[in-house]
Amino acid sequence: MDRDAIKTPQVMLSQAQLTNRVAELGAEITRDYAAKDLVLVGVLKGSFMFMADLARAIDLPLRCDFLGLSSYGSSTKSTGVVAFTKDLSGPVEGRDVLIIEDIVDTGLTMAYLLKNLQTRKPASTRIASLLSKPARRQVEIDVDYLGFTIEDRFVVGYGLDFDGLYRNLPYIGTIDDGD
Ligand code: 5GP
Repeated sequence: MDRDAIKTPQVMLSQAQLTNRVAELGAEITRDYAAKDLVLVGVLKGSFMFMADLARAIDLPLRCDFLGLSSYGSSTKSTGVVAFTKDLSGPVEGRDVLIIEDIVDTGLTMAYLLKNLQTRKPASTRIASLLSKPARRQVEIDVDYLGFTIEDRFVVGYGLDFDGLYRNLPYIGTIDDGD
């Protein structure tokens, strides 16, 4: 690995900002899902850190499952091509599904996933996304629990990668030059 080529990102959202917002979202979800059969469905890999923190901020009995979707190669622009790389480990029929996503960008991934999950007859389906880039939206997506709206910059950290790297940063940062 050429370590000299790995840039230090510029902080866009600090660890403290993420912690505070995740706590707020957790409290909101706790209020909304009391007496429901909640299952958090994390979209791998980008949502793993957000999901780990959000799950701990929800004070309710819940289940966790994961699926893998891939819409990016190593490039920083969405291709619009979505593929399942891993499916859920169990049925969600009759359960209240809360999809946990890192970022909604064009919305193509989420539109594909919502359509797919609908065929599995959940009692309800909502979306929690840490980030949203509305400037790039191609299909309308209602994000029920949104952490932050951000400008059209490529971001890394807190689960989000560039070419597999940066996922372990405790903050959200940028590595593009802002053009
Ligand atoms: P969409 O289908 O909404 O265009 O893209 C959703 C997926 O693209 C996200 O789950 C994420 O994996 C990837 N993505 C979109 N924008 C960014 C970004 O700024 N940074 C990173 N690391 N991934 C992104």
